[in-house]
Amino acid sequence: MEKPCPFCAIVADSSSREIVAANDSAVAFRDAFPVSRGHTLVVPRVHAALLSELSKEQSRDLFDLVYDLCAGELYAPPARTIGVNDGPLAGQTVAHVHVHLIPRRLGDVADPRGGVRWVLPEQADYWSARP
Ligand code: AMP
Ligand code: ZN
Repeated sequence: MEKPCPFCAIVADSSSREIVAANDSAVAFRDAFPVSRGHTLVVPRVHAALLSELSKEQSRDLFDLVYDLCAGELYAPPARTIGVNDGPLAGQTVAHVHVHLIPRRLGDVADPRGGVRWVLPEQADYWSARP
């Protein structure tokens, strides 16, 4: 039997204190295992594993909520890494579409250059070889 989806459980409980923002078809909540303070996930209300399984409207609502969180945070971090692991080969471990909003702060890594490029470390650094 398949494991129940943890994100569907959060979406189903509209009174959950975990939910920080929502719109018609998307919900945002704090990541249970944050990689930085404020790490937030934005998910569609509907269960779908991949972004391409959503309708355009569901996808728009998802990214509208991402935008609203970025634009509306009272104590916004100085930077964010925003990303989707879209499929298991891209590192997805929960099969319900989610956008990671990961607050980034000065000194959290020695050299932040490249950011998401480091998912493929061999190719990440394109600047060192340049004059
Ligand atoms: P990914 O590897 O991109 O699929 O990310 C899954 C994310 O879900 C990870 O950052 C986990 O920390 C987070 N996570 C797993 N289970 C839960 C849960 N029950 N509630 C909130 N976040 C969760
Ligand atoms: Zn789900």
